[in-house]
Amino acid sequence: AACEGGSNGKTKSIASPSATEGGGGGEEEPITIGFSMDTLLEERWLKDRDMFRAAGEARGANVVIMEANGDDAKQISQAETMISQGVDILVIAPHNAEATAAIVKKAHSAGIKVLAYDRLIKNSDVDLYVSFDNEMVGELQARAITRLVPKGKYVYIGGADTDNNAHLFKAGVFNVLQPLIDRGDITVVYDQWTKDWTPANALVNMKQALDASGDQIDAVIAANDATAGSVIEALAEAGLAGKIPVAGQDADLAAAQRIVAGTQTMTVYKPIKLLADKAADLAVKLARGEDVQADKKLNNGKIEVPSVLLTPIAVDRSNLEDTIISDGFHSREDVYKK
Ligand code: BGC
Repeated sequence: AACEGGSNGKTKSIASPSATEGGGGGEEEPITIGFSMDTLLEERWLKDRDMFRAAGEARGANVVIMEANGDDAKQISQAETMISQGVDILVIAPHNAEATAAIVKKAHSAGIKVLAYDRLIKNSDVDLYVSFDNEMVGELQARAITRLVPKGKYVYIGGADTDNNAHLFKAGVFNVLQPLIDRGDITVVYDQWTKDWTPANALVNMKQALDASGDQIDAVIAANDATAGSVIEALAEAGLAGKIPVAGQDADLAAAQRIVAGTQTMTVYKPIKLLADKAADLAVKLARGEDVQADKKLNNGKIEVPSVLLTPIAVDRSNLEDTIISDGFHSREDVYKK
């Protein structure tokens, strides 16, 4: 399906700078977007996949999607396949922020631009980054929890060290915690990455945190809802679920249900539809060689990457209704299901 562009995607992209959006009809050959995904493990990525496909197709593009199952070599070879099939633009949600720089090199030598989706590609000449303000995600978490626990012992369960977002989330958390740590109000008694973001690794981490502190913990910030689920599982075994504030991220259905049940305090909602629409929009523009506006810049270790960063939203029991339910991200029935 991705072969229509022939072996050189470059020709087509440069040939049609004045193309209008949403078309796909008329004389114009449709753009083919290759979307390379790291994983479909967390619930959100299923939404990303479906919403990105719909957004691309609504703009008249063909969308080819491959998923690498958390395997760096596989993600690179899948991207090579898409490049040789003649996609006009690559959209990458990288498993490994550093390893995927190889994809950018290969794409560029074939005349294909690369958009980093949700996660930044480091030390590369990646053309554009579209995501949420990931540092703000961590800040929202820490603000919500420090409001409840202004003093005490904190645990931070981080994301995957190989994911640049995990570093931004953590930076955001510590932007808020550091002044309180400096004042002596807060101590961070445990702080670990979670390899590959897997719940099993987060469970091991949280059990260690409890063991090491003799269960003397006052609050937990987990980098996403999948890891927060493991945190709450470990707390439940120690008889502490619902007694200690826990923050997560992604507005997973299970997390929304835990917020209703009182075992999770908050999550951070990132409206995936806005991300998918924005990324598809800009991918089509890049593929056509049009000018793309990005108001921010993020340093990736090599260049200042033009970046579009959408706004994340803190969600707790008080605004479930006005955020994820009213957006149709989850149904009211599902969220309040016993
Ligand atoms: C995403 C999170 C997600 C995590 C694990 C991060 O890069 O921004 O939304 O929970 O990866 O997939």
